Amino acid sequence: MKRPELLAPAGDLTRMKYAFAYGADAVYAGQPAFSLRARENGFKNLDDLAEGIEYAHRLGKKFYLTSNVIPRNVKVEAFQKALLAAIDLGPDALIVADPGFVGWLRKVRPEVEIHLSVQANTTNYLAAMFWQDLGVRRIILSRELRLSEVVEIKERCPNLELEVFVHGAVCMSMSGRCMLSNWVTRRDANQGACDNSCRMPYRLYANPEPQCENYREHEGSFTLQRTDRPELDPIALDEDAWGTYFMSSRDLCAMDVIPDLMMAGLDSFKIEGRTKSVYYLSQVVRAYRMAIDACAEQAEAGKPFEVSAEARRAISFVDGRGFMTGFMKGPLPQNYESTHEDAAGGCVVAQVLSYDEATRACRVNVKNRFSLDDSLELMTPAGQFSCEVLSMKDFKGGDTDTLHPGTEGWIFLSESAGDMSKNANFFFFLKKKS
Ligand code: SF4
Repeated sequence: MKRPELLAPAGDLTRMKYAFAYGADAVYAGQPAFSLRARENGFKNLDDLAEGIEYAHRLGKKFYLTSNVIPRNVKVEAFQKALLAAIDLGPDALIVADPGFVGWLRKVRPEVEIHLSVQANTTNYLAAMFWQDLGVRRIILSRELRLSEVVEIKERCPNLELEVFVHGAVCMSMSGRCMLSNWVTRRDANQGACDNSCRMPYRLYANPEPQCENYREHEGSFTLQRTDRPELDPIALDEDAWGTYFMSSRDLCAMDVIPDLMMAGLDSFKIEGRTKSVYYLSQVVRAYRMAIDACAEQAEAGKPFEVSAEARRAISFVDGRGFMTGFMKGPLPQNYESTHEDAAGGCVVAQVLSYDEATRACRVNVKNRFSLDDSLELMTPAGQFSCEVLSMKDFKGGDTDTLHPGTEGWIFLSESAGDMSKNANFFFFLKKKS
């Protein structure tokens, strides 16, 4: 069985390096103005892109340039210029959404591999064949498809590479092309400036005169009912301390259908989230790495497919909005009752920045307060293991028994932490067990 590519988001060079360390085969990243990630994007110039592409290739991995903005006339020339300059750096493919740009690239740079962005909303095999005829190598399928539809497109287009999202946040709209953020905040989602308006808390106010100073918060619970269809179930608008999340969907977690997607011969499994933390990214990549590898090994051994308990456990180490299998297993998967579920197994307290073998000291960037008597474990690309901290120093080098968030410090590990010298490149996190 072919192992699909595991494709991870790279919001900046640091995230890219963690993604590769934890098992990604490829990353996607793009220029802020043209890649639907206008903010919190570390690939600000061609030098950053060149460094990323060179780093990926040195590891024998791939770097895809996300260029999936939906440009207006005024942006066309600048976008063309930026693309030509970036192509010269040698990315492995361009992720494009706009049909005009697909056609233009095929003419001016026919050698460039094109992946059709999810923003293009490919939902059926005829559309897939259309793009294949235009020279598109891979299609990133719409996230609204069921598993059976994905499988059928692969069967009908066996020579077309197909990529599917397996993990991360989903839009309330048909993937992409959403105007909600434009409407609520005047920030254009289709130009990379989405405000995540669907995920934010809202409060209901009662006042007959909009914009007056005396808005009153409405008290009590609320129910929505279609007045023209009274037979439909009413929709409860639950509130917590922050408000209601009527438009915020659970996150996609396709772990349960990984074996089906692999059996169908899908080519690439994509993780969403270029702005997620390095810890989130590392754990999600590791979870899907384990799931893919375990399924491939089971297939080679002639055993029935099963996603390992370890992969499922790794995915539980990140927080989110609660998980669902998306539309893969049927309609109406979303849930709007809450917007946050804590990670299992404790919280991350520090990112390990470096290690001194002689003193067994780790320099750490502290994310959450922790103390000498806390029960700690190291999260590494090879798994997590308990570690005993013998002593600590704060950022001034003074002895302490507690480190505080927003600072750096040192922790000194006991010998039971094992032979750390084998891990010259760290990419480790320190977690406080719950
Ligand atoms: S507002 Fe929500 S649904 Fe719309 S583009 Fe942004 S994240 Fe997607």
